[in-house]
Amino acid sequence: MPDFRLYNTLTRSIEPFAPADGKTVRMYTCGPTVYKPAHLGNFRTFLFEDLLRRVIALRGWKLVQVMNLTDVDDKIIKAASEQGITISEVTAPVVQTFNADRAFLRIQDAEVYPRATDHIPEMLAIVKRLVDRGLAYLADDGSVYYAIDKFKDYGKLSRLDTREVRAGARVIQDDYSKENAQDFALWKAAKPEDEATGAAWDSPWGRGRPGWHLECSAMAMKYLGETLDIHCGGIDLIFPHHEDEIAQSEGATGKQFARFWCHGEFLLTEGSKMAKRLGNVATVQDLREQGIPAAAFRHFVFSTHYRKQLNMSGEALEASMEGVRRVGDLAERLASAKGATPELEQIADDAEREVIAALFDDLNAPIALGALFTFIRKANAELDRHGVDRRALERAREVFLRINSVLDVIPEAAGPDPELAQWVEEKLAARKNARARREFAQADAIRSEIEGRGIAIEDTPAGTKWKKLR
Ligand code: AMP
Ligand code: ZN
Repeated sequence: MPDFRLYNTLTRSIEPFAPADGKTVRMYTCGPTVYKPAHLGNFRTFLFEDLLRRVIALRGWKLVQVMNLTDVDDKIIKAASEQGITISEVTAPVVQTFNADRAFLRIQDAEVYPRATDHIPEMLAIVKRLVDRGLAYLADDGSVYYAIDKFKDYGKLSRLDTREVRAGARVIQDDYSKENAQDFALWKAAKPEDEATGAAWDSPWGRGRPGWHLECSAMAMKYLGETLDIHCGGIDLIFPHHEDEIAQSEGATGKQFARFWCHGEFLLTEGSKMAKRLGNVATVQDLREQGIPAAAFRHFVFSTHYRKQLNMSGEALEASMEGVRRVGDLAERLASAKGATPELEQIADDAEREVIAALFDDLNAPIALGALFTFIRKANAELDRHGVDRRALERAREVFLRINSVLDVIPEAAGPDPELAQWVEEKLAARKNARARREFAQADAIRSEIEGRGIAIEDTPAGTKWKKLR
């Protein structure tokens, strides 16, 4: 096995990676704020983490991945307050959607999905340690703040120029810019809307609620120990979120919090970041409605390296749909073949080696996909020659499945055969004509005939869609 190398934001370089104990990777991934369904930009980050997860498995290591659910924060409280409900009433349906969307995109489950509201005691324990060590203080507004000028390493992840640090100036919001590096809130004094929405807890410093950064420190250390192997998130989390997590965790324990910090770049639409506040978001629901299979979205995301920006467009998604159709076709061909030419064995060996080398080189999925498509082209050419070598065929199947165990890009039911497709299209045209002539009994009869061949049809504003049921 070649070395596994990963870009570390902490050192701004690609470094060899292995878990500290040599066996199990302990990985924390910042999860969604569950006030609205996650958008495809969020899912680009979760797919980069899914890729990392699967490459870790391919390398033969065990993995414990934790992904938190931020179920208390400024936005959730605002939404609950506006609707006159509690924060858990806001977050419960959103968590369900998140689970379903992850399943749709074939994102493998993390080992633990802890919720912030279930970990208030752990968070308060960290605040206490920081206050005891003189790194945090209770301010006159009743909130507890982190004194960033007391932590000598403050800014080491985001490479913040320490001269920008404004000692004593405070920020209560969870999100703020680098230009405003200030003492940030660990524990926020309760306001009436916090009490009204169920977002206030007792503490030694009075009723209040946790800051966003604090939850991740508490849950990461609870489930993974004081030093993690990898901590991931989107690139926008480097500052302040991850910088503040380091200040809290290392300030409390005196130990390095995470050995590797890994960040995925943004998904863009029409050149700007996909973001809820910009109103340019698309969701998994949109993919479903447009009939874009999960395999195609995965292909689209993996076609660009995770540290480069990726622009979403109809054309790119179309191209990915076409790409995964070819993956599905080869899956069917390999499954039904009885043998192959001996040459296929070497072709499979080459593909496996190239894909592994690419994935272990800082998760270079676009190169891996390129190697997969070279394999598809060459394997099809060999299968056209109708060889009888069983061993070569078995090896090709094995390699194909191994590559797909990481990328997971075979579309659901691989496409129906072209003859069937033509028959369905003809029947649908006949049905459309019958309806135009208002011969509804005739139209219904055609529909039954189509369904009789295991085809589901659906009339949409964009025309009639159909698919073969499994
Ligand atoms: P949030 O729910 O806003 O806390 O975001 C959840 C995750 O999605 C974080 O890791 C963010 O960095 C990431 N994220 C947010 N917007 C985008 C985007 N447009 N592209 C990629 N990742 C994003
Ligand atoms: Zn976090």
